[in-house]
Amino acid sequence: MADFLFEPHAPVSIPIARGGLFAVRRVYCVGRNYAEHIREMGNDTRDPPFFFAKPADAVVVGGAGIPYPPQTEDLHHEVELVVAIGVDGSDIAVKDALSHVYGYAVGLDMTRRDLQADAKKAGRPWEMAKAFDFSAPIGTIEPASAIGHPDKGAITLLVNGAERQRGDLGDQIWNVSEAIAYLSQFVTLKAGDLIMTGTPAGVGAVVRGDVLEGSIAGVGSVRTSII
Ligand code: MN
Repeated sequence: MADFLFEPHAPVSIPIARGGLFAVRRVYCVGRNYAEHIREMGNDTRDPPFFFAKPADAVVVGGAGIPYPPQTEDLHHEVELVVAIGVDGSDIAVKDALSHVYGYAVGLDMTRRDLQADAKKAGRPWEMAKAFDFSAPIGTIEPASAIGHPDKGAITLLVNGAERQRGDLGDQIWNVSEAIAYLSQFVTLKAGDLIMTGTPAGVGAVVRGDVLEGSIAGVGSVRTSII
């Protein structure tokens, strides 16, 4: 028994459809991956992809509510396809990328938009805008062996039953294979890593009491509420 100063934190895990748990290692996020969302944020659609990260323990599962975070007055929803990596690799070729995928889920990249705007203006890191506590509600993981590798289909977000975001996976600028290949040039991907693949247009603010439901055709859903 190692002589830990305190009990190590239990790994964060996401339920897998049909049983089992996916232990989360790292959470990578693709910035700007749907042209319409890039335009609504005032950016150039020709930019290459870039990545940021959230800590594994930002993941919230089971439809649990998330507290409205401190230090913001502009908490935004971003519904995203989440890729669950099952096979390690670096410098992965586009044509081999899907063989590294265990499965898929629907997730929310919750964002303190006002802090992100400040960070962008000052050329500072995005962590306090993106990587805060409870910032990544994620639904059940569906194995690719059961649902395949979705590359088109509606991705939507409802707030209190009203549609706020709608796009199609087919409108991703960088598809899942390309995102994996590109990211794996910078870091070694390992089983347990998640990649949140960017959000379609329609991002907006939520307030306490709101109920959020994200869905992707053929993948599933994620649900949370702001408490
Ligand atoms: Mn995002």
